[in-house]
Amino acid sequence: MCGIVGYFGDLKATDVILNGLKKLEYRGYDSCGICYHNLNTDRFVTYKDKGRVKHLKHDFDYNGDNHFGIGHTRWATHGAPNHINSHPHSSQSGRFVIVHNGVIENYKELVAKYLSAVYFTSETDTEVIANLIEYFAVSYPVELAIRKALAMLEGSYALLIIDKLNPNIIYAGKNKSPLLLGLRNDGVCLASDLMAFVGVSSEYYVIEDKTFVKAEKVDNEYRFSMYDPIGIEFTPIRHEVSLNDDEINRGGYDHYMLKEICEQPSVIRKIMTNYIKDNRFHIKQDVLDLFANKKRIYILAAGTSMHAGFVGKINFETLTKIPTEVFIASEFAYNKPLLEKEAAFILISQSGETADLRACLVDINKMGYPSLTITNVKTSTLAREATNYLLIHAGPEIAVASTKAYVGQIAVLAILAYVLADNPKIDMIKEMSRLAVAMEAIIDKKEYIHDLVQSHLIKRNCFYIGRGIDYYTSLEAALKLKEISYIQTEGFAAGELKHGTIALIEEDVPVIAIITQRHINKNTRSNIQEVKSRGADVLVISTNDTSEPEDDIILMDVHDLLSPALAVIPTQLIAYYKALDMGKDIDKPRNLAKSVTVE
Ligand code: GLU
Repeated sequence: MCGIVGYFGDLKATDVILNGLKKLEYRGYDSCGICYHNLNTDRFVTYKDKGRVKHLKHDFDYNGDNHFGIGHTRWATHGAPNHINSHPHSSQSGRFVIVHNGVIENYKELVAKYLSAVYFTSETDTEVIANLIEYFAVSYPVELAIRKALAMLEGSYALLIIDKLNPNIIYAGKNKSPLLLGLRNDGVCLASDLMAFVGVSSEYYVIEDKTFVKAEKVDNEYRFSMYDPIGIEFTPIRHEVSLNDDEINRGGYDHYMLKEICEQPSVIRKIMTNYIKDNRFHIKQDVLDLFANKKRIYILAAGTSMHAGFVGKINFETLTKIPTEVFIASEFAYNKPLLEKEAAFILISQSGETADLRACLVDINKMGYPSLTITNVKTSTLAREATNYLLIHAGPEIAVASTKAYVGQIAVLAILAYVLADNPKIDMIKEMSRLAVAMEAIIDKKEYIHDLVQSHLIKRNCFYIGRGIDYYTSLEAALKLKEISYIQTEGFAAGELKHGTIALIEEDVPVIAIITQRHINKNTRSNIQEVKSRGADVLVISTNDTSEPEDDIILMDVHDLLSPALAVIPTQLIAYYKALDMGKDIDKPRNLAKSVTVE
């Protein structure tokens, strides 16, 4: 996944790069590194190590004058997170230095064919790229050598390349992994994500797949050139950087996750503002046209977004009466079901960069199906490559465990289903306003939820149970607890537990039941009795409508179709406080990264 930043200009490069890397750490944080040109000594300096950017920063003296460099924060795919495997990586002679986000699938073949004489120091696929460039640079001018090497790479890459012989140019190449270029009068910045540009550049350009980029200083002017795969120069579209520092700061909260949990009511209101026109929900006509006369909708997603997809399925089937199926993106990509001809696809991804979904989208486009991406990032790959896109307007989500993007995805799916419906029989504006109020009410009780977490023995393993739409909330609730506390947790259809898994229930095993739907209240209550009889420590999350006196968390009533966006909040808070009390690294849990740009 990784975050990369390169800078070249009048500002101090190490400042821009290290600040940028810190903002990109959500993309990977097992190791990091930087290579810059020290003007005082006229030498290139590389620092890298296992661990976070803040540690790297303390490790070296970056006070010397420097205006040119590249940096990396890693989520290891090839080789353990250690000093040697950290980026930047150099070619054998040390001439070419590169940082890389992605996976080179044919790196072994490339070594066998061209690089058998090279002594590799790391286990990474990245080091192969640096050496392949060097191999071609023996016979070709540097630019051509880089392009020849790029043309041979199979897989995903966002690459920044330095040729030490010329500290006036940064080269870049890109396929599948995201890469943007920010321009200012006095410099050029390249990065995996817009966040790195905040405070650095107010305009940026999206680098398309297979594009080769040269950013250089000519006659005291900073400029860049972009070339398509056959080498023809083109002018990309200019975008404004719309983020500001407030949106990406913690704003007084101890963790981004808590801040983002608390922002959920305002996300719902922001979505309403963006989608209401003339007092009604409105979706652009070309999006609605994607679904005209469709007999089936396929929703593809991964992780939390897939759980939002399940809720979307219920909304679509209830409101539009179009049969809707949800698939795990990584499964769909290589194991397709029998597809309906008259169908439309919805892809859900917070970042819009999920590699598993991208693999699906390439096939969907080839098969000629219309597609819609629901995402938080307008300029993302999936937004650009699908037939159309809708934004969830959640603002930057920085904690690795997703919260506000999930409720944003549910809300946008519900609005879309509502607008597509002939006779929706729900006053969606009223119901969404009520949802935002109900969210605030439960967030106000967060300290009470913290107490509950402390009085229950949530330790080795845990179960969330629910039926129907609450089952989907159970899946998301379990994922959240696993992600940040590392407690083994399963989300289970309440009625299914007794068909085997109940064998795991013993004295004090926590079972958290979610009951927001009146029609399954009695059934889930029976399942609660079954686990209680076997010693489970049960906690119940219900609503005014479904509650019983001894229930632990009682939510306001909201419309059934929107209830997952509310019921998930106490479960997010349970995960947050449990991880907090356990001293876990809440915003950057182990082994994870936010934008999963590898398959
Ligand atoms: N494959 C490279 C490595 O393992 C980059 C990893 C990534 O982009 O996540 O170092």
